[in-house]
Amino acid sequence: MTDRSGYPFRFACRRSGNCCAIPDGEVRVGPDDIAAIASHLGLDVAAFASLHVQPDGVRLKDGLGGRCVFLQDGREASCAIYEVRPQKCRDWPFWPELRDDPERLRRAQRMCPGIEPVAPGGPESPR
Ligand code: SF4
Repeated sequence: MTDRSGYPFRFACRRSGNCCAIPDGEVRVGPDDIAAIASHLGLDVAAFASLHVQPDGVRLKDGLGGRCVFLQDGREASCAIYEVRPQKCRDWPFWPELRDDPERLRRAQRMCPGIEPVAPGGPESPR
């Protein structure tokens, strides 16, 4: 679990799916993510990478309309690979770049209904 101390917000996912469908967004993956997702899907790493990873090796290819290819619609949005979703997805929105850049945090708050600002020194998110 990412250390959530020092973030000026708390978070409870509302299952909007917005964070998985950010226009011009990207889903970052590392080698451990790629290995875990490939195994989960019953693919070897090379086959999974060919299907779903950008040539740079660190981003998933986009799905329809630029959404994450693993985002599933429904009454509540869900992730088709939830158990093995990438670490960046697990950490959302506790990303240092949101903690350290007020404008990026404001943009994230406009998009994600689960981010709730707290006053400095206020209560932290439930873990
Ligand atoms: S991998 Fe899952 S959690 Fe991550 S962006 Fe795609 S749908 Fe969302």
